[in-house]
Amino acid sequence: MEPLEDLVAANRILAAHGVIDAYGHVSLRSPRGYYLAQAIAPERVQLDDLIEYDLDSNPIDARGRESVRERFIHGEIYKARPEVMAVVHNHSPSVVPFSVTGVPMRALFHMAAFVGDGLPNFEIRDVQKGTDLLVKTPALGKALALTLSSKPAALMRGHGAVVVGESLPRAVGRSVYLEQSARMQMQALLLSKKITYLDAAEVKASMPIQDYNRAWPLWREKALAQARAERK
Ligand SMILES: [Zn+2]
Repeated sequence: MEPLEDLVAANRILAAHGVIDAYGHVSLRSPRGYYLAQAIAPERVQLDDLIEYDLDSNPIDARGRESVRERFIHGEIYKARPEVMAVVHNHSPSVVPFSVTGVPMRALFHMAAFVGDGLPNFEIRDVQKGTDLLVKTPALGKALALTLSSKPAALMRGHGAVVVGESLPRAVGRSVYLEQSARMQMQALLLSKKITYLDAAEVKASMPIQDYNRAWPLWREKALAQARAERK
């Protein structure tokens, strides 16, 4: 059950870092599709809340549990990106301003060097007008996956972001540090117009070390201890 415990931990870690609120979600690829928690607040997720979906985002064994409406984000990205093993969708508060101003996020902090890869911004209006901004159909999920292309993350205008990884720790770590990087960039912009960003060579050199291997076991242990305490 270890990968599923990892997913329980991932929900709680993202909530603890303020990256997902009561509505964000994180999924893990499974042999038949992916696992995603039922529609409850992520910081309350336990193993029993995890539902397996096929890649068309149909629940395989819902047993009366309610699915999140934006699950198509996950299914469509897994279809488009065979190397992706985990997907986070969040409403990362410091990221949203970049999605509505045209000010690009840039790499200025080594823990979030992947920002330097260039993060696209999903404009839902280009696909469908007058929506509530939620990606709740397969067509919208597919369009988002197309915008994400081969990148590690994409902003979603007026809504949040989607972050992917070749592993769960990488997707979670990127989400935590994407939020921090956005906050730091806003702070730096308040201090000065002249900011020294990472250059292309530094971005490239920083990529291989970003598996957040020191943070993940610590985060996981704390999250699962909390989950166990709640079960008692
Ligand atoms: Zn959302």
